[in-house]
Amino acid sequence: MNYRHAYHAGNFADVVKHVVLSRLVEYLKQKDKAFRVIDTHAGIGRYDLSSTEAQKTGEWQGGIGRLIDAPLDAKAAALLAPYLDVVRSLNPERGPEGGVKKYPGSPLIARQLMRKQDRLSAVELHQDDAARLKALFAGDFQTRVIELDGWLALGAHLPPKEKRGLLLIDPPFEEQGEFGRLVDGLQKAHKRWPGGIYALWYPVKDRKAVIAFRKALKQSGIPRLLDIDFEIKPASAEPSLDGSGMVVVNPPFTLEGELRIVLPALHRLLVVEKPADWRMEWLAGE
Ligand code: SAM
Repeated sequence: MNYRHAYHAGNFADVVKHVVLSRLVEYLKQKDKAFRVIDTHAGIGRYDLSSTEAQKTGEWQGGIGRLIDAPLDAKAAALLAPYLDVVRSLNPERGPEGGVKKYPGSPLIARQLMRKQDRLSAVELHQDDAARLKALFAGDFQTRVIELDGWLALGAHLPPKEKRGLLLIDPPFEEQGEFGRLVDGLQKAHKRWPGGIYALWYPVKDRKAVIAFRKALKQSGIPRLLDIDFEIKPASAEPSLDGSGMVVVNPPFTLEGELRIVLPALHRLLVVEKPADWRMEWLAGE
């Protein structure tokens, strides 16, 4: 486990993932009934963008750095507001020049958007990261931080007692076979909790692996799969993160329309080199 998210926090892929996450949580809030968010690869929850790691790559400058003070049309601004409000709440000392120094990870975004009846289970395997996450949520009775292999959380932890909610699977993709584990993990989880919303993150780096992943999902028999592909540069000869993808299972009926407003606005800001585009497609319908 060499992957350290501190190098990548706030990059374009985090922005897209966290915007989708925020729209899913906002949808769940439309009913009073409590929900649970389960984050299987949670990270440390809050990132310092002035850290050596973040400064070394500067990736956040091509992500949240471009978005935080950008002018947006009214519809996109309204849909991005819950997410951007969480980012702003971590940066209360923003001067007139704007900018951002701290960035929230997925568990903190979900937690900040939740209501008092909702619950968060944040799973992280790396011992130091799990300890930092526990410290971040110390004393918070709505959040449970679990030091565990996130793939195991797809078994015994499902379905949650609330019976409604969202499961985010955001593995580091540092090992071979992560795409296969995602498909297997989803199938296992979906059997136990067919009504849950699932959000799976994946890198657009090895194009053949992405094509095989989408094919495997289509063949899985799992209905209602929406695939989001957000590319910021053309396919490169050397392996590099040209884009990021997300598959949402059981997306709320509002999600596709919202993303058709938000993704073009984000793409205009975050694209690095053209031709590169975003795309959304149903891998499986009802
Ligand atoms: N979801 C986080 C966010 O959006 O802020 C970022 C997560 S990062 C991409 C992946 C995380 O998974 C890392 O913190 C890594 O330590 C952790 N990890 C790696 N293997 C794991 C496993 N088998 N189970 C749970 N966590 C794991």
